[in-house]
Amino acid sequence: MEDFEVKDSPFPPSPVVPQLLQPETVIQFHCHKDIACFNACCKNIDISLTPYDILRLKKRLNMSSGEFLKAYTFPYEMEKDGIAGVKLKPVEGGTACRFMTEQGCSVYEDRPTACRYYPVGLLSIRRQGENFDREAYAIIKENHCLGHNEARQLTIAEYRKEQGLEEYDELSRGWRQLILKKKSAGPTVGKPSKRSLQMFFMTCYDLDQFRDFATSAQFNDLYEVEPETREKIKTDDIALMQFGFRLLRQVMFNEMSIPIRPDALEKRLARKREREQILDRIVEKIGPVETVPVEELEDKYKHASD
Ligand code: SF4
Ligand code: SF4
Repeated sequence: MEDFEVKDSPFPPSPVVPQLLQPETVIQFHCHKDIACFNACCKNIDISLTPYDILRLKKRLNMSSGEFLKAYTFPYEMEKDGIAGVKLKPVEGGTACRFMTEQGCSVYEDRPTACRYYPVGLLSIRRQGENFDREAYAIIKENHCLGHNEARQLTIAEYRKEQGLEEYDELSRGWRQLILKKKSAGPTVGKPSKRSLQMFFMTCYDLDQFRDFATSAQFNDLYEVEPETREKIKTDDIALMQFGFRLLRQVMFNEMSIPIRPDALEKRLARKREREQILDRIVEKIGPVETVPVEELEDKYKHASD
C-alpha cells in the first residue's frame, strides 16, 4: 500500500483517503437497502459517463444515443482545451439523479461505472519513464455514507467482481487509454480543433450517429475496413464502439491500423468532376435559368391580388 499526500492544499479536505490501494487490499464496506443512508449518494450527483455506460443506458431506455445524450446528459471538457466528456444531468433545478426512486436506482442493472465503483475510486497512473499505465484504487470516505461502518470485509478485486466492474472496465479500456495518452502528450500536441473535439464526442458517445458515419459510402471510399468488421459494426454496438476507439487512435495519434485507400483522393476528385458535369448537362438541356427582376415580381403579385 502506498501513501500519497497533498501538502498545503488550498482546497477543503478531500474525502479521498490518501492511500493507493491494490486489488488484494481488504476494505470494510457494505451498501444495502436497509441501511439508514439509503439513496443518500444519489441525491447529489457528479457522475461522468464512459462510452459503455451510455451504450448500456440508451439500450435500457430504448433510445438512440442522440436522444439519450439530449435528455439525460450534458457535455463538459475534461481538461482545459482537452477532451470532451459527458456527465449525467441531475433533476431540473436540483442535484439528485434522475434515475433515483424511493426504492433505489431505477436502472440498477445498467447503472454507470462511477455508481458501481463508489466508494472505491479507480486511478490510472503512468510513472515517469514508463510507457504503460498501472491501475490502482483509493477509498472515498464521506460522512453521509454509512456503508463503511458495516462489518463486511472483502478485497477490492472481490468488490469489483460483485459490482460487475470487470466487464465495464474491460469495455472502456480503449477510451481510458485515449484520455491518458492525450493527457500525457500534453500541450505539445496543441489545442485540438473544434472538429476533432466533435469527432471525439460523436465517436465515443453518440454511437448511433457514429454508425451512420462509419457505414457511409464516403467512409468506405476513404478507409479500407476489413469486410467482417464492416458487417459487424452495422448491428453490434460493442464492436462499433471498439472500432471507434481504433479509429480515434489513428486520427489522434497516428497509430495506423485502418488502411487508407490509395485512390481515395482521386475518387473524391472524380466525384466532384462528375457532379459538375451533371450540372453542366442540366444547364445545357434546360438553358440558362432566367431570373425575374424584383420589380416584375412585385407587379406579378400586385396583379394576382387585384
Ligand atoms: S444511476 Fe442509479 S446508482 Fe447512479 S446515481 Fe443515479 S440512481 Fe444512483
Ligand atoms: S451506504 Fe453509501 S453507497 Fe450505499 S446508499 Fe448509503 S451513501 Fe450510498
